[in-house]
Amino acid sequence: MVNVGILGATGMVGQRFIELLGDHPDLELTTLTASKRSAGKKYEDAVTWYLDCKIPEIARNITVVDTDPNEVKDVDIVFSALPADIARIVEPQFAEAGMVVASNAAAMRMEPDVPLVIPEVNPEHLELVELQRKNRGWDGFIVTNPNCSTIALAMTLKPLYDQFKLEKVYVSTMQAVSGAGYNGVPSMAIVDNLVPFIGGEEEKMENETLHLLGDLDGNTVTPASFGVSASCHRVAVLDGHTEAVFIEMSEEFNVDEVKKSFHEFQGLPQKLDLYSAPAAPIIIREEENRPQPRMDRNAEHGMAVTVGRIRKDNVFNKTLKYILVGHNTIRGAAGASILNAELINEIIL
Ligand code: NAP
Repeated sequence: MVNVGILGATGMVGQRFIELLGDHPDLELTTLTASKRSAGKKYEDAVTWYLDCKIPEIARNITVVDTDPNEVKDVDIVFSALPADIARIVEPQFAEAGMVVASNAAAMRMEPDVPLVIPEVNPEHLELVELQRKNRGWDGFIVTNPNCSTIALAMTLKPLYDQFKLEKVYVSTMQAVSGAGYNGVPSMAIVDNLVPFIGGEEEKMENETLHLLGDLDGNTVTPASFGVSASCHRVAVLDGHTEAVFIEMSEEFNVDEVKKSFHEFQGLPQKLDLYSAPAAPIIIREEENRPQPRMDRNAEHGMAVTVGRIRKDNVFNKTLKYILVGHNTIRGAAGASILNAELINEIIL
C-alpha cells in the first residue's frame, strides 16, 4: 500500500478525495491537513460535510493537522486541495520534504518544469518530473491536474485533435456552484440567477487546454497552435459543469466520424487498467435533451465526460457543435488527481 494524505481535507475537493479514497485498493489514507482553524480537531468535528454519503470511517477519527510537512509523517503522496495562494507556498515544501504532490490547485500548473497532466490526454508530460527534481534539488515532486472545466473540454478535444485539423474552439460554460468551494458563491447571489463571470477561469481554459495538447519537446512543452476562446458562467447547479463547444475545422468532416472518434477514445489509464480509470472516458448520449448535469455527472462514477447534441452547424461552414457534462469535483478535481497518482505509482514510483 502507498500511504497518502490530503492537504485541505475539509473543503469541497478535500471531501471528494476522502470519499474516493475510502475503499481504494492501493492508496491508504493516513493523514488529513487543513488550516490552523481545523488543526487539532477530529475530522468529523472539523468538517462541514456536504456529500450525500456518510463520512468514511477511514477519515472520521483522524486528527486534522496543520498544513506543514513537519506535521506529516510516513506519507508517500499528498493530494493538494488547497487554495492557490496557500498551495504556491506549501506544495514546494512538501516536495522538498520528499513527498509526491498531486495537486488540484492552479498555483504551479504553468511552471515550465511541472507536469500538467490528464492521464488519457498527455501522460508523456510526466517526463518533466526528472527535470523538475534536477532543477529544484527535490527528492519529491509536484504533478498538477488542470482546472475542472478544462479537463472535460480537453478530454473531448484530444481524439478530435488526433484525427482532424482544428482551427478554432469556442466554449461557453455553465459551471456548478461546488466549483467555487464551500464558501464560494453566496446563495443570495446564485439562487434564481446566473453569474456571467468566474475570475481567471477563461484564461485557465484557454491556456491550459493548449498546454495539455502541446508537444513535449526535450524539456519544453510547445502549446498546440489552434485558437481557444472561452466564456465562463456560474449557474445554480450543485455539481457538474456543462459546456457548449463550437469547433471550426479546416476541412469538411463527417459527424459519424466524430462520434466514432469519441466512442473509440481510450488512453493509457484504460490500457494499464488503473483502478479509477473509466472504461469509456467519453460517453455519447443520442437523446436531444442530454447531457444534463443531474443525470449525467455521475457517469462511470463521475470519471467520464458525457457528450451529446453532436452536430454540424447549420450556419457556419466546417463547424462542429456539441454539449458536454463533466463532474467538476470528481473528474475535474479529486478523481483527476487520484488517477494521476495511480499512473505515477505505476510508471514512476
Ligand atoms: P474550499 O472548499 O474552500 O477548501 C479549502 C481547503 O483549504 C479547506 O480544507 C481549508 O481548511 C484549507 N485551507 C484554507 N486556508 C488554509 C490555510 N491558510 N492553510 C492551510 N489550509 C487552508 O476549496 P475547494 O473548492 O475544495 O478547492 C480547493 C482547490 O482545488 C482550489 O485551489 C481550487 O481552485 C481547486 N479546484 C477546485 C475545484 C472544484 O470543483 N471545487 C475543481 C478543480 C480545482 P479549513 O476548513 O480549515 O479552512
